[in-house]
Amino acid sequence: MTITTEINKVSLKKIEGKNLSNRSKEQLASCDIRLQKVVNLTLDFMDLVVIDGHREKKEQDEYFKSGKSRLEWPKSKHNVMPSLAIDMAPVRNLIIPWEEVTLFYYFAGAVISCAKQIGVKLRWGGDWKGLHDFKKNEFNDLTHFEIRD
Ligand SMILES: [Zn+2]
Repeated sequence: MTITTEINKVSLKKIEGKNLSNRSKEQLASCDIRLQKVVNLTLDFMDLVVIDGHREKKEQDEYFKSGKSRLEWPKSKHNVMPSLAIDMAPVRNLIIPWEEVTLFYYFAGAVISCAKQIGVKLRWGGDWKGLHDFKKNEFNDLTHFEIRD
C-alpha cells in the first residue's frame, strides 16, 4: 500500500516533450530496452506512471505475501535484471484513477498495440492467456505487462 500511496500523486515533468515522473524514470531504467521503447511510444498517447520495474527479493516477498503477486522470488519476470516485466498505470489530472477500471483496459490496448508496432510481444495481467475474453481472466493484475517469449 505504501507504494500505491507514494505514487498516487504524481509530479509529471516534461521529458523530451513527454510527461514522466522522476520515480517513473528510475523504475523504467531497470527495465529491458524493449519495454523502455514501448513506454516511450505509449507516452505519445497517454500520460502514465511506471510503478515497478525490477524487484529485489525483499520487495517480491512482500508482493507475494500481500497477494499482489502470485509468484515467489525469483520466478517473476520482475526479478531479472534488466526486468522483463513492468507495472504501469494511466494517469489523469496527476492521479492514477484506480476506480476507473475501464481506463486500464483502454490503456492496455494502447500499450499492446504500441508494442506490436515495434515487434515486441507482450502479455498483460488483464488477459494472461491472450483470449480477449476478460471474464475468463483468473487473476487481474491490470498494471502488469511482461515480455512474451
Ligand atoms: Zn507486475
